[in-house]
Amino acid sequence: MRPRHFVDVVLRVDLFEQLPHNTWVKLLKLMAKDRCEECGSEQNLHAHHMDKNTENNCLANGICLCASCHANWHVELRQKTALTGL
Ligand SMILES: [Zn+2]
Ligand SMILES: [Zn+2]
Repeated sequence: MRPRHFVDVVLRVDLFEQLPHNTWVKLLKLMAKDRCEECGSEQNLHAHHMDKNTENNCLANGICLCASCHANWHVELRQKTALTGL
């Protein structure tokens, strides 16, 4: 998790403020400096909702991922869900 002050100082947007989806995507990519936060790739960047709720467009709920890390993330989520039965 990023330190909260990073967002306050650089963007002056609260981590938990709900944003329009396109603004949310733009700010996440900006915070990640247009790189995947998993592998550093600059190709095919996506913004991913950490809690899988696509209406929760706050920065605390977002991560910038490339297409392949994004796909991996969803595979992991599916496996975790299967393991816990949720
Ligand atoms: Zn990646
Ligand atoms: Zn996703």
